[in-house]
Amino acid sequence: MRRLDLTEKDTSKRITIYFEGKPYEAYEGEKFPVAMLANGVYWLTTSTEGRKRGAFTFGPLPVKVDGVKNVNGRKLKIRDSMRIERQRYDEFQEQVKIDEGKPVLRYVVDVAVIGAGPAGLGVVEEIGGKLTAALIEERTWLGGDMWLKGVEQEGFGNPRKAIEKLTNFSENVRVFLKTAALGVFDKGEYFLVPAVRNDQLIEFMAKRVVLTTGAVDSIMLFENNDYPGVFRRADALEVMNVWNVAPGERVAVTGAFPEEITAELDRWGIEYVVVPNPKRVEGKDRVERLIDENGNVYEVDAVIMADGRIPDINPVTQAGGKLRFKRGYYTPILDEEHRIRDGIYAAGSAAGIKPHYANYIEGKLVGAYILREFGFEAEPCVYSERLREYEPLSRPRPRFPLDSFNAEDVHICGCDVSLKKVDDVVKSGITDLQIIKRLTHLAMGFCQGRFCLFNGALLVSQRSGLPMDRLDIPVARPPIKNVKMKVVAGRE
Ligand code: ATP
Repeated sequence: MRRLDLTEKDTSKRITIYFEGKPYEAYEGEKFPVAMLANGVYWLTTSTEGRKRGAFTFGPLPVKVDGVKNVNGRKLKIRDSMRIERQRYDEFQEQVKIDEGKPVLRYVVDVAVIGAGPAGLGVVEEIGGKLTAALIEERTWLGGDMWLKGVEQEGFGNPRKAIEKLTNFSENVRVFLKTAALGVFDKGEYFLVPAVRNDQLIEFMAKRVVLTTGAVDSIMLFENNDYPGVFRRADALEVMNVWNVAPGERVAVTGAFPEEITAELDRWGIEYVVVPNPKRVEGKDRVERLIDENGNVYEVDAVIMADGRIPDINPVTQAGGKLRFKRGYYTPILDEEHRIRDGIYAAGSAAGIKPHYANYIEGKLVGAYILREFGFEAEPCVYSERLREYEPLSRPRPRFPLDSFNAEDVHICGCDVSLKKVDDVVKSGITDLQIIKRLTHLAMGFCQGRFCLFNGALLVSQRSGLPMDRLDIPVARPPIKNVKMKVVAGRE
């Protein structure tokens, strides 16, 4: 077994890959970063400013494969004898390109459901058999965030078994995996949802749209938070529970919600320490120690940000929804039937952070509202009653120790934007996030602000004293996923 493998792998699938000229044991079908992690190699790419970067924190992962530059290492499925080398970000663009030569695929449905986590699965379960639906999911799996979990989930029990049950779709539900929805546009009586699968443009025409687009991991700010060996919560879950590889041998867990990760580490018997107030990560080319704000030093080889999630606001603002700041994060303003505006609904983590089961129930609730709109009998009150048991989660508001940080080493955005760069602009008196974006490139890169804009807003609020709900959060422009825009715009 490789150093960080948690289980024996199928030896008939064993292959050798070469990274920076050195051979490593790998397994067919593995993703490149996972194979390297299992071998204890964390530093995989280098930022424009020369910072060492791994695959599990944030930022792009360009690598050179068999001499070809600008390959997206994050998605790279390895083959025997593949030769992979580090590359600087340089001109790398993590962008999907639509093949303009291919005819557009078109589908007309009653309801387009964007996102196949527990909430999206709840919607199609409720409306399936009665209305036609397209379930659009950008990832390769169904079940969203819950699919990454190994421990039992309240209301559901075993997460994988629960997802299996929910994915016995009725005939009039059509599922589109690896398909990213690019936005929602008005088209007369219908909504147009353009989407892309590989290089194929697909257009969905739907009478109703549900945004069950979920939440994104909260990125914590501390010195060298972009360093190889720092893990985002979802990536740590994925390496353990999907690939059966440990994030490290001795792990530090930090953030406001450590239990979500420690329960999984306990399940695998991985040694860990909980560090509530991280100040700085250090090491040669990967995490070797974590130092907290009181000067305590923890010898660890990985740090997991267990700081929970915040709703992904981009699909909501692009579709014309408005936001409010409540319980420590931005959520869409919904009418009494969970609509962000006429015909467009939101449910699940996209609408507020709750346990998976509550998100599923909320999906069913929205499904019931839609059924009623189409003239079917439905009982939304049964679900709204059950949902009342689940008050959405409140997040503690972080206060960044701005004056004791070495802000050049703190990364607010994976695309090489340091906290110092943004803080200098804010300190000069600029509080408009739109202008801050232009001046610093915060939220202008591959994640389109999903991970970094919230910290930008917290920073502005902390420095200026402006309350979060008074800040002007930039509206997401289409396409909401990184796709060459020309084609989609041409069809507008
Ligand atoms: P929970 O948060 O409890 O897991 P949920 O269903 O509200 O429940 P997620 O599990 O995060 O939330 O599921 C949201 C799903 O939406 C994810 O699988 C994500 O890949 C998908 N998604 C987000 N944006 C898009 C998009 N633009 N196109 C297609 N799929 C998307």
